Amino acid sequence: MGLTKNSVGIKAVDGGLVIQKENGNERVVALAGNPNVGKSTVFNALTGMNQHTGNWPGKTVSNAQGYCKTENNSYILVDIPGTYSLMAHSAEEEVARNFICFGEPDAVVVVCDATCLERNLNLVIQTVEICKNTVVCVNLLDEARRKGIKLDLKKLSERLGVPVVGTVAQKKKTLTELMKTLDKVPLNTSDNAIRVRYPDIIEEAVGIIEDALNGMDCTQLDKRWLSLKLLENDPQLEAQLKLYLGSDFLDNGALKAATVKATQKLQLCGVRGDKLKDMIVSSIVLTAEKICNGVVTYAESGYRSADRKIDRVLTSRWGGYPVMLLLMAFIFWLTISGANYPSELLSKGLFAVQDMLSDLFMKLGAPEWLHGALVMGVYRVLAWVVSVMLPPMAIFFPLFTLLEDSGYLPRVAYNLDRPFKRCCACGKQALTMCMGFGCNAAGVVGCRIIDSPRERLLAILTNSFVPCNGRFPTIITVIAMFFVGSAAGVFSSVLSAVLLTAVIVLGILMTFLSTKLLSKTVLKGVPSSFTLELPPYRKPQIGKVIVRSVFDRTLFVLGRAAAVAAPAGLIIWLAANITVGESSILQHCANFLDPFARLMGLDGVILIAFILGFPANEIVVPIIIMAYTANGSLTELPGIFVMKNLLEANGWTWITAICFLIFCLMHWPCSTTLITIKKETGSLKWTALAAVLPTVFGIVLCILFNLTAKMFL
Ligand code: GDP
Repeated sequence: MGLTKNSVGIKAVDGGLVIQKENGNERVVALAGNPNVGKSTVFNALTGMNQHTGNWPGKTVSNAQGYCKTENNSYILVDIPGTYSLMAHSAEEEVARNFICFGEPDAVVVVCDATCLERNLNLVIQTVEICKNTVVCVNLLDEARRKGIKLDLKKLSERLGVPVVGTVAQKKKTLTELMKTLDKVPLNTSDNAIRVRYPDIIEEAVGIIEDALNGMDCTQLDKRWLSLKLLENDPQLEAQLKLYLGSDFLDNGALKAATVKATQKLQLCGVRGDKLKDMIVSSIVLTAEKICNGVVTYAESGYRSADRKIDRVLTSRWGGYPVMLLLMAFIFWLTISGANYPSELLSKGLFAVQDMLSDLFMKLGAPEWLHGALVMGVYRVLAWVVSVMLPPMAIFFPLFTLLEDSGYLPRVAYNLDRPFKRCCACGKQALTMCMGFGCNAAGVVGCRIIDSPRERLLAILTNSFVPCNGRFPTIITVIAMFFVGSAAGVFSSVLSAVLLTAVIVLGILMTFLSTKLLSKTVLKGVPSSFTLELPPYRKPQIGKVIVRSVFDRTLFVLGRAAAVAAPAGLIIWLAANITVGESSILQHCANFLDPFARLMGLDGVILIAFILGFPANEIVVPIIIMAYTANGSLTELPGIFVMKNLLEANGWTWITAICFLIFCLMHWPCSTTLITIKKETGSLKWTALAAVLPTVFGIVLCILFNLTAKMFL
C-alpha cells in the first residue's frame, strides 16, 4: 500500500482510502483500537454512518471515513482496522500503521476496552510513539462497571501524558466529551507524552540513528520512532518510507553509516532479528503493566462466570456441534416457515400489478414485442426476484445479525478450529465462511482477518462452498417444491429446514475437503497457531440489528439482484423469443449443452441458466422457467405447485432436483465474487482456481449421484 499526495493536498493511500476534504479545514482524526472494542460504534455514533459493527474481532478490514462537527471544528473521522499492535504482522496492522504514520492524521483516537485496559495500552503506547496528538477513549465503561472493575482515568491520563476520556459508545452523550477533548488537542505539541524506556543497549543504538536523523527533514515522522524502526530492518516499512520521504532519504550516507554502526553495536551484544523485536515488545508490555498498576482495580465479580457456564456448553465437545446444528436448523425453519406467507402475498400483489401493466400496454396500443420484452421479460423476472428473495432474506439476515451481535459467531469459529486445523488451515476461516452465507464477495474480503497468506488463500478459494443469499432462496424453493410438497403444515417446514441444513452441512464438508486437498497440494504448509478470543456475550441491540440487517444486507443484496435481474430479464426474453430456424436462440444453446447436462442429471436449459446466472445466481430459476414456458415468458403465477408441475412436465424428477441442488451449491462463484477474489489475491491464476475448484467438484458429484441413483431405480 503506497502513499501519494495529490494537487489539493489531499492524502491518498493506494488501495486504501482517499481522504476527501470538503473545504480543506477539517481535522483528520484516525480511530484506532483493538478489535471488538466498540470503534465502529463510536465511528457510527459520531458520523451518523453505518459501518459494520458486530460482536467479533476482525470486521473492519480496510479504512472507512465519515464527517462530524463540533462548535469549533469540522472533523473527518477515519475508522482504521482493529489491531492489537502496530508492528505490522498482518495486513490489517499494516493498513493501520501506514495510516497513522503516513496518512498524517491531525490526531489519533485510540479506543480501548475498559474491561481489559492493560492489553489495550500496548496499542496506545505504540501509537503515542508515532503520534503525540493521541487521545485515549476508554470505552465499554458500563461493562467494566458490571464486572466490578474500577478505573482512575485521571491518573491514567497523567501517566500517559495524553488526554483520556471514558465512554459508553452506545450512549451518544458520553461521546460529546470525546469531541470536546479533541477540540482542545493542540496540534503537534504535547511533550508530556509517555516514552517507553527500552533496555540501555537499544537506547544507545536508537540514539546513534537519532543523531543522524537530527539534521534531516523527516516531515511529521517522530525521529525516535523512526530510529527504532530502522534498527528493526523491516523491508515493507522501508518501502513505505521511500514513498513518503522520497527515494533518496534512506540512501543518505550519514544515515546509512549510523544505521550500520547501531546495528553492529546491537549484534555485538547478541541482539539481532527476533531478539530485538522481543525486547521491544517486552518493554512496551512492561510499561503498560506499570501504567495500569494503581489505575485499574478489580472487585471479585461473578459476571464473567455466567459467560463461562454458557461456554461450557456451547464450546464443549459434546455440546458444541449439536447446538450449532440445532441452531442452524432452527434459524432455517424460522426463515422457511416465516417466508412462505409473505412470499405468497408479495407474488400475488406483484403479479396483479403485472396484469395492470399489461392492460395499460394494451390500452396504449403498444406493440406485442414491447409488451413482451418489458412486462413479460423485465418486470416478471424482477417480480420473481423480489417475491422469492425478499421474505427469506428479511428473516434470515436479522437472525444471523443477532447471532453475530450476541457473540455466538466466535464460538462457531472456536468449535470449527479443530477440523480446520486438521485440514492445515486456520479456525478463523470459520468466521469468513459465516460471512459467505451473506455474500461470498464479503466473505472473501473478510479473509483479511487471517494473518498467514497461505491460510488466507485457502479461505478465499473455498469460500463459495457455502451458499450466499443469491443461492439460498433458490435452494429453499427447490427443496420446498420437490421434497415437501406432499407433507402438511408444520411438518413440511421442519422437513425443509432439515434438508436445507443437510445441504449447508454438505457445503461445510466440501469446504473441509477442498481445504485439505489444497493444503496437501498447491498450498502446502503447517497451520499457524492463533488465539481466538471469545468476546463476552452481549445483549444484542435489537433496533440496530434490524436496521443494519435490513439496510446493509437485505436491501443492498436485493438492489444488486434487481439491477442484474432487470437487464437479464430483457436479454433472456429476447433469447427465448428470437428464433433461428425452428427454435429460439436459448433453445439452440440448451440443445447444444443437453447431452453433457443429462450426464450430470440436469438438462441443457438448467445448465444454460447457471451459465447465464453468472452475474447473479438469483436469476437461475427465472431463466429456467422462462425457457420452459412455451412463449418464452412466465405464464402463470409463480406459485410453488404451478412451478413444480411445469418442471415435472419438462422432465424433472427428484434426481434432477438433487443434482440441481448439488450444482447450485458447487459451481463457479458469481462475477462479483470472482472480481473480488482477483482484487484480493492480485492473481488470475488463483481466481481461475477459485472458479474451477467448485465447478469440478459440482460436476463430478452430480455425475456420480445421477449414475448411482439411476442404477438403483
Ligand atoms: P469494533 O470491532 O471495535 O469496531 O467494535 P464494534 O463497534 O463492532 O462493537 C463491538 C460490540 O460491542 C458490538 O456488539 C457493540 O454493540 C458493543 N459495544 C460497543 N461499545 C459498547 C459500550 O460502550 N458498551 C457496551 N455494553 N457494548 C458496546
